[in-house]
Amino acid sequence: MRVFLDQLGCRLNFSENSTLAGRLNAAGHRIVGRAEEAQVIVLNTCAVTSQAARKSRQAARHLNRRNPDARIAMTGCYATLAPRESAKFPGVELVADNSAKEMLHTLLEPWSAEFSDPDDLSRIQPHGTPFAPASTEEEGGRTRAFVKVQDGCQNRCTFCIVTALRGDSRSRTTAEVVSEVQGLVDGGYREAVLTGVHLGAFGRDLDGGQRSDLKELTAAILTDTDIARLRLSSLEPWELADGFFDLWQRWPGRLCPHLHLPLQAGTDAQLRRMARRCTVASFRQLAADARAAIPNLIITTDLIVGFPGESDADFEEGLQFVEEMRFAHAHIFPFSARTGTAAAEFDGQVKKAVKRERSRRMHQVAARSGQLERTRYVGATRPVLWEGSGQPLTDQADTLLWSGLTDNYLRVTAQAPAGTDLSNRITPVRLDELHGETLYGEPLLP
Ligand code: SF4
Repeated sequence: MRVFLDQLGCRLNFSENSTLAGRLNAAGHRIVGRAEEAQVIVLNTCAVTSQAARKSRQAARHLNRRNPDARIAMTGCYATLAPRESAKFPGVELVADNSAKEMLHTLLEPWSAEFSDPDDLSRIQPHGTPFAPASTEEEGGRTRAFVKVQDGCQNRCTFCIVTALRGDSRSRTTAEVVSEVQGLVDGGYREAVLTGVHLGAFGRDLDGGQRSDLKELTAAILTDTDIARLRLSSLEPWELADGFFDLWQRWPGRLCPHLHLPLQAGTDAQLRRMARRCTVASFRQLAADARAAIPNLIITTDLIVGFPGESDADFEEGLQFVEEMRFAHAHIFPFSARTGTAAAEFDGQVKKAVKRERSRRMHQVAARSGQLERTRYVGATRPVLWEGSGQPLTDQADTLLWSGLTDNYLRVTAQAPAGTDLSNRITPVRLDELHGETLYGEPLLP
């Protein structure tokens, strides 16, 4: 579904909306830059002063006038303080107090069935793309663009409907991709994210001289274009070319030290049932090799809990492996049977309540390891690409709040004087504190 996020108030609201945008995007929803385009509007309110509360009320009415068809979810301090009044505003169908904010993406999920776009396959991809979309021009600049380099997949993971719908892997040519990336650079983009249904299979289906692989494509882009940053999206944890991680040593400042490696399950028995082409040992080795070769690497993943046949013992073993892998973030999907996949017919379907409980525990483990990974960067300096156009603080008109991502995919918020334009710039930032999933820092400007 198409979601517009709006907020008033403090830097916490601002960074929460950034986090929410990432989560919604990871779940296959699209963040839009205008309320008029949205099916769902999330308003993160403020009540620090009576004026802030008044502005929150005005914003709710105004958003409904801009798009009377959209459903509005109100959250934040005003919604917590005045839930009944909040629920009465036209268009408001959900009021989530501050304690429910962390789960807001889940609370919105029931609406998605009504708004899903039948042509949009991203929601049925098991691993989706974990990367936040580029800021729209309206939000103040072109920052990150997605470049799809291949479609389809030869594998037949037993939970995955994508192959049935998308067919075998088909790649674009290297020349075509290189030219698109240079076009993005010319259009002002600073970061390109290479995506595909099975990105690691890129180029192997091409004939003759055009045959290639992801390592060659990455090298060609970094050699033949001026893109400031290149990021790889979800990569199945197998089939990577020999010396794949050498790429980061060759282009340390431009190739982002971030890998999204969908593990899906943390035991060999479950990986086999899923028909994944890796084992726990091969995944462990891959993560170790990557970490040894790429300084400051952040690894994120996807996990399925409650896959058919998952016993209590399987789950506990998988949980331990997930903890050992130190993922900075995990998208956790309770298994849901898709008609047309092998797993939908498997014996040993897991009860809903058990899946829910396993999902809760897996979230806890992932949140803990994510927190540990982020904490390692408090006190460090990392380059941040700033998105959007800076948000004024309710109570400090001379200061703007900026949000952006480090090269290794950490969400950062920083304040800067109103006259400083950080939009679409990459600047070093000293990371001072961690709150929730966001690091707060100070841009080190020349
Ligand atoms: S590798 Fe598996 S999960 Fe990924 S697209 Fe192919 S079949 Fe689906």
